[in-house]
Amino acid sequence: ATPMSIMIATGRGAHEGVLIKDAEALERFSKVDTLIVDKTGTLTEGKPRLTDVVALGDVVEDDLLRLAASLERGSEHPLAAAIVAGAQERGIALLDITGFDAATGKGVRGNVGGTAVALGNAAMMADLGIDVAAHDAQLQSLRDKGKTVMFVVVDQRLAGLVAVADRIKPTTAAAIKALHASGLKIIMATGDNERTARSVAKSLGIDDVRADILPEGKKALIDELHARGAVVAMAGDGINDAPALAAADVGIAMGTGADVAMESAGITLVKGDLNGIVRARRLAEATMRNIR
Ligand code: ADP
Ligand code: MG
Repeated sequence: ATPMSIMIATGRGAHEGVLIKDAEALERFSKVDTLIVDKTGTLTEGKPRLTDVVALGDVVEDDLLRLAASLERGSEHPLAAAIVAGAQERGIALLDITGFDAATGKGVRGNVGGTAVALGNAAMMADLGIDVAAHDAQLQSLRDKGKTVMFVVVDQRLAGLVAVADRIKPTTAAAIKALHASGLKIIMATGDNERTARSVAKSLGIDDVRADILPEGKKALIDELHARGAVVAMAGDGINDAPALAAADVGIAMGTGADVAMESAGITLVKGDLNGIVRARRLAEATMRNIR
């Protein structure tokens, strides 16, 4: 592309809230055939709300939420914010924590007022050696509603479940439709579990879902697609998406997400909605058509 046509395209992009890093990013994007999208914060608002607190043992609901929310004050994850806000709305006083530790893509643990608490997904429970099979039916019914369910462990024992739900952004469905229509193959990759992920994907017409994926797994997926000759763009919002954004042919960061995601991206969507990808696609195609 000529420097002039690139300049015009990036200028128009910026005007529409699509920040394109350089000529290379624009050129590469015109060749992309596969788009990987992260779920939380990309397809969805990324502002989940607490929906359920289920006590499974001796710890009553309010205490369960108190322990979970106190612990999550140490985390910057959107799920953590939902749990803390949920506790505050219910007027539950929180406790001080010590020894906080986060396992990326899995959950958090620490000491809440002298009690060992862990909170996270099935992978974290596996790491802790805690069997959750007895609660499978309850779990699946929450997940089939698109809810993300986390396990709460108190003193090494499964004490309950907390569930949150995250709304799909109002602009997502139309953008996915337009991107499909433009010939892109779309894959949803998420650290969330299969049932929840499928429920969200189904409502958007996305049929390729990779769930239970750790941050390194998103990068591995890109490597797998590259080995098959695909040209891959990856859209994500989080700190945990940075390695995948960097590994993709074009990384697309949600401007509403983490700074490190934007640093790793060739394209940043200021408004954080997927219509920005539709716009970027049109710009890239128009620019490249002019020069061929
Ligand atoms: P996504 O790929 O959908 O953005 P993440 O990789 O950020 O998801 O998180 C994957 C999963 O790890 C979450 O669905 C949740 O089960 C668990 N998890 C991550 N961080 C936390 C946290 N702070 N508290 C509880 N669970 C967490
Ligand atoms: Mg995310």
